[in-house]
Amino acid sequence: MSSVEAAAEQRRHRGTCVLCQKDAELRISHVIPNAIFRGIKRENSGKMITFDDAPEGDIDTTINSWSERLLCGACEMLVGRCEKVFFDTMRSTRSAVRRAHPAGVTFQAINHAALKLFFMSLLWRAAVSVQEVYSKVWLEASLKERLRTLLLAQQAAPARLFGVRVSILTDTTRSQERRLTSAELKQISISPFDRQHARSVSFVFVLEGYLAEIFVPRVTPEQVRAPGLLPSAGIWFVPFLDTFEVEELVRAFVAGVAKDMAAQALKTER
Ligand SMILES: [Zn+2]
Repeated sequence: MSSVEAAAEQRRHRGTCVLCQKDAELRISHVIPNAIFRGIKRENSGKMITFDDAPEGDIDTTINSWSERLLCGACEMLVGRCEKVFFDTMRSTRSAVRRAHPAGVTFQAINHAALKLFFMSLLWRAAVSVQEVYSKVWLEASLKERLRTLLLAQQAAPARLFGVRVSILTDTTRSQERRLTSAELKQISISPFDRQHARSVSFVFVLEGYLAEIFVPRVTPEQVRAPGLLPSAGIWFVPFLDTFEVEELVRAFVAGVAKDMAAQALKTER
């Protein structure tokens, strides 16, 4: 690339960073961390299968990892630091950090605030994204702005405003030969979806074999007591959750399989 072309390229990518709101050269941002997509693509020779429950349209086999230009370099780094904490923690095999139990896993000696910041950035970036895959994630303007300022200051949101409950996806109830392995469970990638509650809403993300449900703008006492809620200190218990007991996941799988069969039938006709 010549220096003239490089300069033109740079101008094309200039814009307002959604986090610090400064005019800057914007980087390719991944709402769902790229490290997750890299793993999925490696397993599927560069392609990724995603599921959504829309009745129409092709199954989305894509290589763009749901990315767009959102953040400047400095903000991308800020967000990247919390992402690293998330991966280091959730992938840890050290017994000092992660211990298996019959009903789940406990995490200890973890950076609670950084983990919370990671989930805050996940939700906030999905809400500011204009991509179709994040269309079910929305936040009221005032909450969106509150999360933006907290993220920029790297301050974890108060417990009453923002809660995240995490489960580990398993497949234990189906017959042995039909069960998904933990490697296959980690491959599940689904557009985040919302759940309506009496006085709040939650958004569900599936990543890295975990199901994370994020509660905003208030977290009820029942939600706090339910197993899996990320505490602000101490041991974090993350329970197992059977994938096929999650209604929204089953619905998305069924829709995905139906679309795939329709696509195959179309190919045969041609
Ligand atoms: Zn920025």
